[in-house]
Amino acid sequence: MELACLDLEGVLIPEIWIAFAEKTGIEELKATTRDIPDYDVLMQQRLRILDEHGYGLPEIQEVIGTLNPLEGAREFIDWLRERFQVVILSDTFYEFAMPLMAKLGYPALLCHKLEVSEQGRITNYLLRQRDPKRQSVRAFQLLNYRVIAAGDSYNDTTMLKQAEVGILFHAPKNVIDEFPQFPAVQTFDELKAEFLSASELHHQTD
Ligand SMILES: [Mg+2]
Repeated sequence: MELACLDLEGVLIPEIWIAFAEKTGIEELKATTRDIPDYDVLMQQRLRILDEHGYGLPEIQEVIGTLNPLEGAREFIDWLRERFQVVILSDTFYEFAMPLMAKLGYPALLCHKLEVSEQGRITNYLLRQRDPKRQSVRAFQLLNYRVIAAGDSYNDTTMLKQAEVGILFHAPKNVIDEFPQFPAVQTFDELKAEFLSASELHHQTD
């Protein structure tokens, strides 16, 4: 039995914080873990900035609702779901991802969660667990699934290593150079081909 695990941001949808910063013109929200390596410091800063600009969850979801999946992403995910069970493993938050998941046909998503007050103010965030993508792959393997995983960035590399087959998709050059053990592709057609050649099914019928 095989399972396909996909990263979300950068693979199927744009980077949410960057797209949100562009939509709203709030430059400070473009900071990522490359600028502020401590994720907690980064998230506290993001929540403070949202507060300062008076953005509660409803306003944020409205802006995120205007974003679209990457070109070809919906077609790709439909193609993949006909051939594999698909689970999206992401470091985003359900509350941010949902407006975009609607446009992807609501595939299964494992990610983090926000704490929101009755007035819609984001008060905190809850990480599901440490190293969640790798832990998810490990759990699926315990259920006797063989996992093929694809992602674009550093936060995917432990997942790609844990999976039976790991694929880099849309990865920047520094990630590709640092992890030469993974095939790296840039288009959905190439990604489809990687999934097919990684699949046991394909090898059995060949
Ligand atoms: Mg990503």
